Amino acid sequence: MKKHNFSAGPCILPQEVLQKASEAVINFNNSNLSLIEISHRSDDFVAVMENARSLVLELLGLQNKGYQALFLQGGASMQFLMVAYNLLNKKAAYLNTGTWSSKAIKEAKIFGDIVEVASSEDKNFTYIPKGYTIPADSDYFHCTSNNTIYGTQLKEFPSFNGTTVCDMSSDIFSRQLDFSKFDLIYAGAQKNMGPAGTTLVVVKESILGNVNRVIPSMLKYKTHIEKDSMFNTPPVFAVYTSMLTLQWLKKLGGISFIEGVNNKKAALLYTEIDRNSLFSGVVEKDDRSIMNATFTLTNESLKSKFDAMWKEAGINGLNGHRSVGGYRASMYNALPLYSVQALVDVMQELERIS
Ligand SMILES: *Cc1c(COP(=O)(O)O)cnc(C)c1O
Repeated sequence: MKKHNFSAGPCILPQEVLQKASEAVINFNNSNLSLIEISHRSDDFVAVMENARSLVLELLGLQNKGYQALFLQGGASMQFLMVAYNLLNKKAAYLNTGTWSSKAIKEAKIFGDIVEVASSEDKNFTYIPKGYTIPADSDYFHCTSNNTIYGTQLKEFPSFNGTTVCDMSSDIFSRQLDFSKFDLIYAGAQKNMGPAGTTLVVVKESILGNVNRVIPSMLKYKTHIEKDSMFNTPPVFAVYTSMLTLQWLKKLGGISFIEGVNNKKAALLYTEIDRNSLFSGVVEKDDRSIMNATFTLTNESLKSKFDAMWKEAGINGLNGHRSVGGYRASMYNALPLYSVQALVDVMQELERIS
């Protein structure tokens, strides 16, 4: 039986997407050729890239608004430096909400002055700082919408008049936002979209071309825009699988539909964490992530019993990140409600027998 997959990333993808992707590896579009053994310049693959890029803008509501969607390589981690390379002249403002933000800050410091407008490091990133000011002369403001490791999520974004950049790796396509408030969004594919190997970048073209430095071709957004995201060989399997996931999401009813499902899943689990005295949530309630729920046992001596029980129930990927400990249930778009119910059942069973 298929496992209940709560893995934080790479993570669960829709079963029908995996089915279609695996078929295309053997016989792509009835060509009697594999997706991964044909030219990326073939009509069939060019159509995949175009479709994937346009589905991104359609689902985000960013069509005809001056944005370009790109499928690049190097992971979200490459974007930590590409963002600064392409946008940072003198000074940029960063909100530090965890490991990924910290890594983005480290890379950006190579290119200019970084103002850390606020940080939640004092409490091991268990909350989202609020009420900070962003210097008006910042070239851009950078934030991380969802903190995969700690299980916090920005519910509101600061109103900043300048360029706004957001790492949405772990909650893109999971909830409705006014995406036009962002000038550059990036997300590694392996949480909510597809396999590792491609990174989605959605960028407003008008913010580019304002830095003085020479940017190597591969690290320059304009290169990839001019070449329709095909400057060099794209990761064809990752892009194709991402396209299938985007089609799946569109067919279901898009982000507004999946947001409803995601809210139900999160409510089911957080209600149990709060109700069951054997468990406690790790982060501030107001800042809880809908995607990644972190929690601990209130009685550590139950650990081996609980671990055996959830494994027995067919649950996978529940261990917390090594820097946080405890448990983390990642409830990405493709995770069904019944998988969350299976976890809640185990939590209630532990309570019953303890
Ligand atoms: C996973 C993750 C990253 C790192 O992504 P890579 O593609 O492995 O570089 C960056 N930011 C966030 C928020 C993540 O969840």
